[in-house]
Amino acid sequence: MVCALGDEGGAISERHVIATTTPDETMPQIAAWFRERGIEALGIGCFGPLDLDKDSKTYGHIAHTPKQAWRDFDLLGYMRQADIPFPIGFDTDVNAACLGEASWGNMRDVDCGIYITVGTGIGVGVLVNGRLLHGLRHPEAGHILIGQRADDNFAGVCPYHRGSVHCLEGLASGPAIVGRWGERAESLHERPGALELEAHYLAAALATYILTLSPKRIIIGGGVMKQARLYPLVREKTAALLNDYVTLPDLDGYIVPPALGDDAGIKGAIKLALLAS
Ligand code: ZN
Repeated sequence: MVCALGDEGGAISERHVIATTTPDETMPQIAAWFRERGIEALGIGCFGPLDLDKDSKTYGHIAHTPKQAWRDFDLLGYMRQADIPFPIGFDTDVNAACLGEASWGNMRDVDCGIYITVGTGIGVGVLVNGRLLHGLRHPEAGHILIGQRADDNFAGVCPYHRGSVHCLEGLASGPAIVGRWGERAESLHERPGALELEAHYLAAALATYILTLSPKRIIIGGGVMKQARLYPLVREKTAALLNDYVTLPDLDGYIVPPALGDDAGIKGAIKLALLAS
């Protein structure tokens, strides 16, 4: 977990990484780091699923995460009793990244957009009319069900969606790439057809997001997207799949990397803190 100190303009002045092991080990270190710095407000962008419903008894808890030690952990409650009296903003990591880009990055000029991270998992943050979408829980659009291409027989890595159905995360996340090819994303360009298959699945998902959410901009970040060659492939395939049904703006400015790079989530957490104040 990254702890960082920032200001109203989104500038980050200090940061510190604490290993995510167990709540008993990790949380006291986080609380102490912030306590020592006398902050005015806190923003938390956390891996999910989370309970973000303020009327729920388990608001602020981490839900049924695969990270066993963190399952049902009351993260917000812990910070509230950690002797740090300040307002706390709380959302998913990918919603935070979406908010960061909306505040200081590539989504500044639009009020509807999505932020997708493609890494160890796939997550999607959604901005609708200037606000992060929560709804029933919060979007889990990394797990949208997706048709497997006929020339791909990989079983998928998502424990919830494998076998007769497949989801995007199961077929296109970093672990899916390693599982299918035995190599990390950095090596995909050396393998004929590998980048193209990855782009196909991402484009299929993007086409679905465009049809359902009508985003005015799509930002794709995360470790897998460090393979910059994916961007033109994804743009081209998304347009091909939509087949002119939706009139899209210039694709080079529509499907873009995050302007804030790996800091999108941290800056979004700063914005969550500001919004809570
Ligand atoms: Zn899944």
